[in-house]
Amino acid sequence: MNASPASRQDFDVAVIGGGLLGATLAWGLARAKQRVAVLDEGDVAFRASRGNFSLVWVQGKGLGMPEYAGWTKRSSDAWQGFAADVEAQTGIDVGFARQGGLTLCLSEAELSARADGLKRLHNQPNMVRYPYEILDHAATAKLVPEIGPEVVGASYSPLDGHCNSLRLLRALHTGMQQLGARYFANHMVDTIAPSGGGFRILSAGGEVRAGKIVLAAGVGNARLAPMVGLSAPVRPQRGQIVVTERVAPFLRHPIVTIRQTDEGSILMGDSSEEAGLDTGVGLGVVSTIASRAVRMLPVLAGLNVVRTWAALRVMTADGFPIYDQSASCPGAFVATCHSGVTLAANHAGTIAPMIAAGALDPDLAVFSARRFDVPQAG
Ligand SMILES: Cc1cc2nc3c(=O)[nH]c(=O)nc-3n(C[C@H](O)[C@H](O)[C@H](O)COP(=O)(O)OP(=O)(O)OC[C@H]3O[C@@H](n4cnc5c(N)ncnc54)[C@H](O)[C@@H]3O)c2cc1C
Repeated sequence: MNASPASRQDFDVAVIGGGLLGATLAWGLARAKQRVAVLDEGDVAFRASRGNFSLVWVQGKGLGMPEYAGWTKRSSDAWQGFAADVEAQTGIDVGFARQGGLTLCLSEAELSARADGLKRLHNQPNMVRYPYEILDHAATAKLVPEIGPEVVGASYSPLDGHCNSLRLLRALHTGMQQLGARYFANHMVDTIAPSGGGFRILSAGGEVRAGKIVLAAGVGNARLAPMVGLSAPVRPQRGQIVVTERVAPFLRHPIVTIRQTDEGSILMGDSSEEAGLDTGVGLGVVSTIASRAVRMLPVLAGLNVVRTWAALRVMTADGFPIYDQSASCPGAFVATCHSGVTLAANHAGTIAPMIAAGALDPDLAVFSARRFDVPQAG
């Protein structure tokens, strides 16, 4: 994946960051016939893209911003075609399946809070509604026979699914390079300078010049955005995940905190912790994750845990994405979100063509970081 450093490269667009957002956008830009450079850090990098839970998830998203619910549903609807396009080009199956997913509840209070939350979400003005159901224990057991007696019920949506996001990352890197994109590892960007209608990008590995620039550097966007008249107020939020040995397939429907990968492992997740840039794994959190999972599916108690990890989500204050273009430096864009797997189909199929054409559509203005400049009413 490495290319030799060079000064004075000439590209239509430089994407800063080679995680899921950067790779997805670069793949979409290369498909739109742009000459693309991707500048990425080395292996020391923080990469949410290597430590996530791989859900392509719709239910529950968008309370407080109904446009985000619609945006998420749109990506979920486009995912099958996106996965097919990636596989047709690269031969890599990214393991997408949309069998419907569940959020299990371990008390009546949890179930009624879940039902209220989904009702409030769907009662918002301009909400793009989607199918979901609240299930009791018996109805939940029809979908997941392994549930324990403590599970009182669940919310279910047929739109939810999952994939193999590590394979997705590999496929996108393979695909973008097959389409001519150049990947520059060990090119941590220090400075971006608007220059002659384009941008000079100064990195640890040398200088690159491009007509447009896309900031897709995860938590690194916060530092880079002001260099091109943008703002990306994001912070890291740690999530820990517990992984078991591989077992024969039994869990057909992903649960928001438990899923079986296409390779057989059970993943249990995932915490939400404010821990700065600390990617340490803590026994307390891991055992809480595992014990709640075992209460949901007692069969998990018999499996060996083989791995745990922590990774950093890229979070905004309201939890919604930022897609923006610079007014003072035309041609500079920023993209960041905490659901880069779910939204990958939109990033490749909608955002990348807009950037290739030079401007984001006005209906994406709701996702501008300018929303953080407005004092909240009341
Ligand atoms: C525990 C956990 C569970 C998750 N579960 C899900 C899920 O189930 N479904 C879902 O949709 N999403 C999930 N996510 C979120 C998803 O993983 C992220 O949205 C996505 O990976 C973000 O990708 P990114 O490219 O923005 O950031 P990252 O993966 O962090 O990549 C950023 C890249 O930018 C590079 N970079 C940073 N600074 C610079 C610089 N100055 N110069 C050059 N390169 C730079 C870094 O090296 C890195 O490669 C989860 C995340 C976590 C942590």
